[in-house]
Amino acid sequence: LYIFGQQLIQSMKVQSTTTQQDDHFLIADYDYKSTNIEKNGDKYIAKPQITNFKFKTDTRIPKVGVMLVGWGGNNGTTLTGGILANKFNITWNSRRGTHQPNFYGSLTQSSVIKIGTCNTEEVFVPFKDVLPMVNPCDIVFGGWDISSLNLADAMGRAQVVDYDLQQKLRPYLEKLVPLPSIYYPDFIAANQGDRADNVIPGNNKLEHLNTIRKNIADFKQQNNLDKVILLWTANTERFCVEDPNVHGTAEKLMKSIESSHPENQCINNFCMCCLFRRMLIHQWITIKYYCSRKKAGVFVAGDDFKTGQTKFKTCLVEYLVGAGIKPKAIISYNHLGNNDGKNLSQESCFKSKERSKKTCVDDILESNKVLYPTEEELNIDHTIVIKYCPETGDSKKAMDEYIAEIFLGGRQTFAVYNVCEDSLLAAPLIMDLLLLCELFERIQFSKDSSEFQRFDTVLSWLSYLMKAPKSESGITTINALSRQRAMLENLVKVCAGLTVDDNLRLEVRYG
Ligand code: NAD
Repeated sequence: LYIFGQQLIQSMKVQSTTTQQDDHFLIADYDYKSTNIEKNGDKYIAKPQITNFKFKTDTRIPKVGVMLVGWGGNNGTTLTGGILANKFNITWNSRRGTHQPNFYGSLTQSSVIKIGTCNTEEVFVPFKDVLPMVNPCDIVFGGWDISSLNLADAMGRAQVVDYDLQQKLRPYLEKLVPLPSIYYPDFIAANQGDRADNVIPGNNKLEHLNTIRKNIADFKQQNNLDKVILLWTANTERFCVEDPNVHGTAEKLMKSIESSHPENQCINNFCMCCLFRRMLIHQWITIKYYCSRKKAGVFVAGDDFKTGQTKFKTCLVEYLVGAGIKPKAIISYNHLGNNDGKNLSQESCFKSKERSKKTCVDDILESNKVLYPTEEELNIDHTIVIKYCPETGDSKKAMDEYIAEIFLGGRQTFAVYNVCEDSLLAAPLIMDLLLLCELFERIQFSKDSSEFQRFDTVLSWLSYLMKAPKSESGITTINALSRQRAMLENLVKVCAGLTVDDNLRLEVRYG
């Protein structure tokens, strides 16, 4: 057994001259090998280089609270109930038999990382064991919803979790009631109005913001928390009509909240609270307004959760382009029957969703100038259709057609039918987002012996989890799924003092 910070890690211990550890910190030295490319006429000159980095991880695990905006929705109830089922080891019956709780679909809890080879055997350990991470069962949950239903009734309304599990979770969930939230009806679909019975009164946006700030402070204090993470999992809001005088800088945005300017979404208010309290948020939508975000040090990962259809898209298109096959059209239909689908049936909200879904293959196509030598060719048919069909419930049907050009003008067509049990895919992913955001707040790096600094506030490391990830300014955003996963895995390994895997396996071939 190996004590790592306050967490007991049974799987591994790193023994190396390039890592140091005391009671609080693990410091790993890493020689990063990259290649600098210079352009000389029509030739590239490649110059390999090595840069020294040190990664310092605070190994003390904080007590973490999570506040969800939209706590009473499908994602909110599934996440909270799922974690409680794991925490109290609640089993339940369905027509398929007796079920044990698990965290399938969670990168941190249910996937593994190769840490090396033992003789010729590859050795893998759970992702969560490589660096000290918060145990999801220790997270305290809270949050807001415009609907007043307690979480047990809200879980019933969601129709996601098996009935028997709902009944077993009822004693835990019925005590959990969302706080009243900010509600600006103009920003979500009109059809959401009938559940909005739990709203902070009045039209004064500054008072709304102050109420939310107080809620966060109370939650932190009442639960004796070291850290609070705020995550937006409420309905997709329509974009606001952009005006640089209103949204151009953090100061202008604050002024516009003070004057209750109509073109401020609810999410703006929640983001502002994060800036005040230096918390972690996952949504990007409004971040470009927060010019002072570096100073505030709030982490932002991107927009929307990359669960079913988009995950598959960024995997399949990466495979095709990597194989030298040229995607020419992607036509995606979604039949969605949950409340999210109901909200998206209003065009203004759908437009926000469409934007987050559409850009996900751009960088993959742009990387291959053999297939796409001109801008015009990059402009493939990429169509997104979402239809609200109540009968579908949370079992979203994603029907995608991929048409690609192959050798000598031939065509390869994939017709993919993907039943995404939406919230059961989203909940573990949301959990990963929270756990990794928290971990990355405890990591600092130093380049060439400079002072240690925190990661940039735009956490592109988390792009694997985001439908529309964002990157630090000036850096290309990566959407290709295997690259995103490799990036995340390698970062965690490097911070732990492990070797990054280039898959050459020379030690096995020629060892
Ligand atoms: P949901 O409609 O079941 O839940 C959203 C909740 O937010 C509802 O309970 C609603 O009452 C509440 N709400 C709306 N406005 C609010 C406000 N201003 N303040 C507080 N609460 C508010 O939806 P869901 O299925 O849980 O999805 C939530 C979000 O996650 C949506 O934006 C959805 O598009 C996104 N999502 C993405 C994926 C994916 O596959 N990538 C999967 C699931 C959900």
